[in-house]
Amino acid sequence: MAEHVTREVVVGTDSGAMRGTVAVRKGPMRLRGLVDTALALTEALARRADQLVVLQGKSISCQAGCGACCRQLVPIAPPEAFFLMDVLESLPAEQAAAVRDRYVEIGRVLEDAAMIDEMLDPPATLEPVLPIAQRYFELQQACPFLVNESCGIHPRRPVACRDYSVTSPAERCADPYGGAIDKVPMPLPLSVPLARVTAAVTGEKPQLLPLSLVPRWCAAHSDLATRTWDGPELFDRFVHELRLQYPVPDES
Ligand code: SF4
Repeated sequence: MAEHVTREVVVGTDSGAMRGTVAVRKGPMRLRGLVDTALALTEALARRADQLVVLQGKSISCQAGCGACCRQLVPIAPPEAFFLMDVLESLPAEQAAAVRDRYVEIGRVLEDAAMIDEMLDPPATLEPVLPIAQRYFELQQACPFLVNESCGIHPRRPVACRDYSVTSPAERCADPYGGAIDKVPMPLPLSVPLARVTAAVTGEKPQLLPLSLVPRWCAAHSDLATRTWDGPELFDRFVHELRLQYPVPDES
């Protein structure tokens, strides 16, 4: 039986610290091995954020069958990209084929629009919204995992998708850059510490890539998909990044 070590994960939020323990398997770990913790933590943070706005008398507008936000540029950290490729491989054959076809279709649209290079390496800007994100939304490309306007991988959807819920009327989501959307305030997305831990162990610069280019990016980084590090050491680096991004008040 595999041996595990226990690690405490603690993050600071506006409404207090959030703590949990994670059993980390001893032995080699791939980057995607960090994703389950990031998703569980994001889920807990999102639930707390939603509860706070409900206590203020608001209600969450998001519901199954509304895929308005699934045409936005969704930022993914490299560990999530490898995780998503595993999710894709695990889907029933027909669904997986449909997702792959959509990826090819979107790739063609992005090539025609000459947007791929900028999407993979957007220029630094102080603007709150990346210009490329706005251009991407204008193309109205539904996410490859969207099925009948609902998420086809809902329990395994990425961090950024879990982070996004609104209290404004759903129809306003058709214009996400018009300034009329009331988004539930969330702390920084956990894709950031995932990207930073990747950078720390590879020596590359931190990168978030768009969900719609995941297969293309993973094909170009296949060596990284299978590379392993000592599990507890890799996890500790992730916890270190979490603490930098989400300092607990009495530790800051
Ligand atoms: S992964 Fe799911 S929730 Fe996220 S953009 Fe795609 S369909 Fe929407």
